Amino acid sequence: MPASGLIPIYNTSQKLLKNNVALVGDAATQVKAVSFGGIIPGLLAAEALAKGIDKYEDNCSPVLKELKLNLLMRVIMDKLGVKDYNDIISIISEGKAKQVLEEEDRDFPSKFIFKLIKSEPRLWKYGLKVIW
Ligand SMILES: Cc1cc2nc3c(=O)[nH]c(=O)nc-3n(C[C@H](O)[C@H](O)[C@H](O)COP(=O)(O)OP(=O)(O)OC[C@H]3O[C@@H](n4cnc5c(N)ncnc54)[C@H](O)[C@@H]3O)c2cc1C
Repeated sequence: MPASGLIPIYNTSQKLLKNNVALVGDAATQVKAVSFGGIIPGLLAAEALAKGIDKYEDNCSPVLKELKLNLLMRVIMDKLGVKDYNDIISIISEGKAKQVLEEEDRDFPSKFIFKLIKSEPRLWKYGLKVIW
């Protein structure tokens, strides 16, 4: 049965804590702007909160870093057209970039994005579309 629902995309101004109340998951906009997936970031944030409310924001910063990078990737993705997407799929299917995507954990783009672009320099062109 099809299901639908609102998806809150990560907001860099989102506050996580007020007094003794902490927000986690969708309520804290901890959702990846690339895939709209919120399960992994929400669970990682919950793990950070479980370490103590006083250190929640600090412990959550690695998750937020990935969510910020997702926002940047979304800006790039929104600038691309159908032809760009078809070209990217062809480029990635050809060689080393495919291997990078297969081997790396795509929940943590900061850990593989430069590796991906290094493996296939033609991908730079799409990242640079943000500028022009
Ligand atoms: C159609 C759809 C598909 C998705 N697919 C994916 C996917 O493939 N992968 C992925 O990672 N993410 C996916 N997501 C996003 C993911 O489901 C959410 O990011 C994730 O479930 C958020 O978890 P959460 O615990 O923060 O919030 P929720 O899962 O929304 O849980 C909040 C809970 O609080 C309850 N609640 C609300 N108000 C009250 C209240 N006043 N009192 C008591 N209880 C209350 C709600 O009933 C709910 O059970 C999808 C979302 C949608 C809508």
